[in-house]
Amino acid sequence: MSGEIYIGDICVRHFVSSRFKLDGGSMFGVIPKTLWEKKTKPDEQNRITLAVNTLLVQTSGINVIVEPGMGLNYSEKQFNIYDLERFQLKDRLIEQGISPSEIDIVVFTHLHLDHAGGATEVSPDGGVVPVFPNAVHVVQEFELQEAKRPHPIESASYRTSDFAALEACGLLRVVDGDEEVAPGVFVERTGGHTRGHQIVTIVSGGEKALYPGDITPTSAHLPLNWLMGWDLYPEEIYWKKELVLKKAAEEGILVFWTHDPNIAASKVSLENDSSFSIVSGSTLPVI
Ligand SMILES: [Zn+2]
Repeated sequence: MSGEIYIGDICVRHFVSSRFKLDGGSMFGVIPKTLWEKKTKPDEQNRITLAVNTLLVQTSGINVIVEPGMGLNYSEKQFNIYDLERFQLKDRLIEQGISPSEIDIVVFTHLHLDHAGGATEVSPDGGVVPVFPNAVHVVQEFELQEAKRPHPIESASYRTSDFAALEACGLLRVVDGDEEVAPGVFVERTGGHTRGHQIVTIVSGGEKALYPGDITPTSAHLPLNWLMGWDLYPEEIYWKKELVLKKAAEEGILVFWTHDPNIAASKVSLENDSSFSIVSGSTLPVI
């Protein structure tokens, strides 16, 4: 099952491709727990539930996946740490009658494992292979370089296995800056969360939808200073987030919440100079 909407002529299906937990403190950086726990209740290990809301964008006969999610290529210890549920994007597509071989383009906002892991899997002979053998996988040049030689503070977030098999098979399409990767599907490099982070905008018939990746991971991250401990460039992400949300509010853009476990997407409004809220009645539930 998936949620299906139209942005102009473009069909956008949204569904959860991964569900897992991360430490609540890491998801809200310097924001005190007494504040964030009012929005999302932690479990006994202080973890909060997160999803990856993946998009299947169907435009001019081309199937585009935005964010393949976490995948299942983890040790038992990691399954426990993340309380990772045992399904992945591939399963969710097959459930909807779509074969992985029908996917033409996969877009990564960035290559952290919770975003990139679902594009590869372990084959019966133990090797790591692409899940989408006919797809080009779009990533920013800066992101690929950082993933290959990560700063020590984020080395645990990148795994070479998430992109090496794609590169070896010639399935990586490395872009540098802003591009239209399929008709009406645009990527824009933002930096902020990582140096090569990009966001995706879908535009058709005067309508727009935005997939902001980890610029605003959940609807709880609407306040501009509610940043994640994982954000490598907090000052940069603050200003980028303000720009992106202001534009979304002004233009009535539907915003998808990458990691929100309850709300897949909503419109936002600008209450005063820099305070945003969700437009009531505009929310799409997570499916
Ligand atoms: Zn993430």
